[in-house]
Amino acid sequence: MLAETKFAAEPLAKPALGEPYLLTPGPLTTAYSVKQAMLRDWGSWDGDFRAMTSDMRRRLLALTGDAKGEFDCVPMQGSGSFCVEAMLGSFVPRDGKVLVLANGAYGLRAAQTMQYLDRAYTLIDKGDYLPPRGDEVAAALEADPAITHVIAIHCETSSGILNPVAEIADAVHAKGRKLLVDSMSAFGAVALDVNEIRYEAMVSSANKCIEGVPGFGFIIARKSELEAAKGRSHSLSLDVHAQWAHMNKTGQWRYTPPTHVVAAFLEALRQHEAEGGVAGRGARYVRNRDVMVAGMRELGFETLLRDRWLSPIIVTFFNPAHANFAFDRFYELMKEKGFIIYPGKLTVVDSFRVGCIGQMDEHVMRRVVEAAAQSLREMGVDTAAPPAAAIAERAKLAA
Ligand SMILES: *Cc1c(COP(=O)(O)O)cnc(C)c1O
Repeated sequence: MLAETKFAAEPLAKPALGEPYLLTPGPLTTAYSVKQAMLRDWGSWDGDFRAMTSDMRRRLLALTGDAKGEFDCVPMQGSGSFCVEAMLGSFVPRDGKVLVLANGAYGLRAAQTMQYLDRAYTLIDKGDYLPPRGDEVAAALEADPAITHVIAIHCETSSGILNPVAEIADAVHAKGRKLLVDSMSAFGAVALDVNEIRYEAMVSSANKCIEGVPGFGFIIARKSELEAAKGRSHSLSLDVHAQWAHMNKTGQWRYTPPTHVVAAFLEALRQHEAEGGVAGRGARYVRNRDVMVAGMRELGFETLLRDRWLSPIIVTFFNPAHANFAFDRFYELMKEKGFIIYPGKLTVVDSFRVGCIGQMDEHVMRRVVEAAAQSLREMGVDTAAPPAAAIAERAKLAA
């Protein structure tokens, strides 16, 4: 409700000086005040910056609902993938084995990370359309007692599917194994409450639903897991235990922190709180998605996923079948109108994606639909209906 009144009245701040909106899953369109927070230099050793780091860790932890103080937050330099690698390398023992749940590019990247780490893993690959379900996770754990950990992708950003992480967590916990969650593109907008969902560690980054700029990520983990991670990491700079221990002892990051990015992120966290936290942020993204998807469907576009699995983060549409449609042209026409869309990342059919996250509201999303309609007209495409083959493929695989 808070977000409703805040965003219904007037559109959010426009990007500066005719910058296009980034309808992408991060980097994304940030608030002017977030950019402004970077106009100052901070000394990494100085008490002011140490206080900022500590405030940031506290605010992030609060988003998980950890009232008992069982968890801690460890920021880590680099993009989100660095943090996934840090988490896997630090929490999975060298003789452990991971069940990787994949239904898109980020799940497969987690598997690839395990290859680089040279640690054992097994993969459930559901393709592009379907979520891994609790019962199949339970069966896989039952069948292979060597599996110690499971990694699940919260929102698989390559399709936009919101995976049933609560159901997966129940299955993992019931079998006495440990769950690691890549909540990169969901955390801050979709609840991942430690009182409701059992997990040992999760990871996210600065430039997704909290709406900061890119430069670091963070791991939120049980303190018992952080303790146990000592000496496990394959990597000096990605050692989560070492970063945690150093930060708790000195208040500092182990190596040069992205000071401006942290300052911007703190401002983004303040705005997140003012919007009503996870619930308020999530509600705005849901409205963004609903307005955008309804408008696109009126133009004939179809979503890859059924409504049940559509996340409020990013939506995949099939490319239209019309002979005059060419994605590169569509992209340029949309960009001229102020909107950067995202190419698809599916293995089977041609698609593109439209993000719902960032400093945008439903008014902006209506303009996105208008821009799409106009772009189609300019291309001489009178309907955006996808090829029959795409629909048949979807029906077959999602049956
Ligand atoms: C963005 C994202 C990542 C990390 O990607 P980077 O490009 O390394 O920041 C990992 N997993 C998911 C699900 C993501 O959306």
